Amino acid sequence: MTWRTSGTDDRDDDADDTLHLYGPAWQPALDRLAAELRRSGRAIVDRFYAGLSTLPRSRQFLDVLSADELGNLKAHQLQNLLMLATPDLTFERHRAIALHVGRVHAIVGLPADEVILGQEALHVAVRRHVDSAVHGEALALLGRRLIRDIAWQIESYLRLKGARYETVQQITQLAWDVGSYTDLIVEVAQTLGAHDEIAGCSFGRPDGHGKFRFESIAGANTESYFAALERSAGGPINSMDAGPVGRAWRSAKIERCVNFSTDPRMSPWRPAARAAGFRSSVAIPLAEPGGRPVAVLTLHSALPGGFVSDDQANFLVQLQMLLVSAIRRMENQDGITRTVRYETRRRWAELLRSDALEMHYQPVVDLKSGRVTKVEALARLRDGDRLLTPAVFFPALSSDDFLELYARGLRQALAQRAGWLRAGFDVGVSVNLPSGAFGDDRYFDATQRALSEYACPSPGLTLEVLETDEIASGANVLGELARFKGLGIRLAEDDLGSGHSSLTRLRELPFDVIKIDRSIVTLADDDASDVLRFVYQLTRLGHSLGKQVIVEGVENRELLEAIATLGVDAVQGYVIARPMPAADLERWIAQYQPLSLPDHSGSHSPLVRLARLLLWEERLYLHLAGMASPARVGADEMAGRPRREPALPPELPFGSIDTALQQALVDAALEHGMISPEYGAARRRLVGVLTRR
Ligand code: C2E
Ligand code: CA
Ligand code: CA
Repeated sequence: MTWRTSGTDDRDDDADDTLHLYGPAWQPALDRLAAELRRSGRAIVDRFYAGLSTLPRSRQFLDVLSADELGNLKAHQLQNLLMLATPDLTFERHRAIALHVGRVHAIVGLPADEVILGQEALHVAVRRHVDSAVHGEALALLGRRLIRDIAWQIESYLRLKGARYETVQQITQLAWDVGSYTDLIVEVAQTLGAHDEIAGCSFGRPDGHGKFRFESIAGANTESYFAALERSAGGPINSMDAGPVGRAWRSAKIERCVNFSTDPRMSPWRPAARAAGFRSSVAIPLAEPGGRPVAVLTLHSALPGGFVSDDQANFLVQLQMLLVSAIRRMENQDGITRTVRYETRRRWAELLRSDALEMHYQPVVDLKSGRVTKVEALARLRDGDRLLTPAVFFPALSSDDFLELYARGLRQALAQRAGWLRAGFDVGVSVNLPSGAFGDDRYFDATQRALSEYACPSPGLTLEVLETDEIASGANVLGELARFKGLGIRLAEDDLGSGHSSLTRLRELPFDVIKIDRSIVTLADDDASDVLRFVYQLTRLGHSLGKQVIVEGVENRELLEAIATLGVDAVQGYVIARPMPAADLERWIAQYQPLSLPDHSGSHSPLVRLARLLLWEERLYLHLAGMASPARVGADEMAGRPRREPALPPELPFGSIDTALQQALVDAALEHGMISPEYGAARRRLVGVLTRR
């Protein structure tokens, strides 16, 4: 048997069909047949359903219907049969109805071959009840119309299959492109929501109490559905409940509700589902094979079935694989974020576009002059009487929200700077440029516009860049940074040493400033030597590349002094001031006394002593390297110079503090070298004394 699957491509055939299958010529015969069908229609349909229940998938489907639903279905079937036998049926109307029926069959998950066999069963049932001696001509016509009908139904199957394929293509693209979990679930939900057989969808994760929080949804009724669940007998969805979402969360397997109206587990939520027009659903856990889910994607259908056909099941597995791999990619970067409900997300996105964004400013103090040279602008979002910090609201932002945040934050900061300047304070501003800015020209345009709008001399603006893996693959970071630099502004590499920023690319990227991450300076006391050594090495590296070095997150005076000792250029941290609203900053600067730092003499804190020990070791290292240098010995010999007395090692800067231990350290270095157990032991003893309070 061959089925023509395209009804419209072949105009001649259609014209043919129109003559053969429709038109006034058939009127008398069809009138008689229709009268007969109206009489025996019920019996025909009952027989037809008896036939259907020998087909396994059809039977499964019929078994989950309620008595009412089955009654409805049979009534529809009868109508459809009568429609096929009406004399005034037209090509267009027949086609539209058949496409619709085919779509329904495909969505409820009946396999195409069973639909074909079912149509056959219908034909047989009709012939059983209608006398072919009387209605032969009309029955033959009905048979031809049934065949035409099935061809259109199959066309619907193919269309839907094509739509699934397209949806998978789009989601494949998203899975590679999006930079954050939020973007992923927002965009994938939109894509799925536009797919024909999905009436609604949601991404959710349980909070600490097991209550599912839905972070992204699509579909006209999904939101009202979740609102209704809150008030329903079953309450909101919970990771322990018997619905598909809870089951999928626990089993890490795809779980279904094939029919809300007959699945006994769903009775508490049934009215809410009915009101929303959801009749079945499937919950897809986003979990690595053998792993725990990180979230659940739920798809709702306006029809029973729960996406059970082979092609649908295949579609679900493809979605699952794509999303899991996208999440894995993001986990390797930042970990996926805390849960934020979609209502909250939407409110924040709206707030951001109103005047609820308030930039706060944290001073950066230059360690040579002790003065405030610039301030970093840090975003805060006013939500009622709460002032949200980035840690709270950033996870809910999509990439468009970040652009909005940047453009607004930058304009605020430049406007403030202009105001401070009028008030007599010349401070630069530093604004954070998110990694989404790479590969997105809108950031550059916004920067250019803001600079001209506020007539800010461009060196007054620094952009802080976090070079993370989130930067879109293929983005030309060097090229884009160079373009920003072309505006005359300064660029800072943010969070150096946090494990995000790349040390290796420091040399090639055109940063003016590096900011050493606060995670480095918030280590425990016994790591103090390591902390200082690391800060020192990064500072030397920065200076050797001609960059200014700022240390962030300095919380106490002692660390501040130690850092100043190491030659760092500027600090930012609570020890100077916390981030504050623009109005406070003006007052704060007005009363600010330039920092005065201890000079080389005088009493020092243990941390400062450690810092000075590090500096001394650096000089000692150079001294030892110079002494041992064969080039130097060789050069002396060639020049006929007498062997020089070895120069004295640099003097330790600790005056009278335990001079015996100081001498022991120098001796150990001269005798055994600095990378010896002897030197290590002598150093530990001296450090023990230096850091005693
Ligand atoms: P960041 O750029 O590293 O900013 C410094 C963060 O460290 C700020 O947190 C600041 O309040 C905090 N901080 C400063 N001194 C100290 C200290 O002494 N001790 C401690 N414990 N913390 C200190 P905040 O404002 O919560 O911002 C967090 C992060 O959010 C920022 O880290 C930055 O990456 C991002 N961010 C803030 N505002 C914006 C913005 O307007 N746009 C973008 N794209 N990102 C922003
Ligand atoms: Ca920053
Ligand atoms: Ca930082």
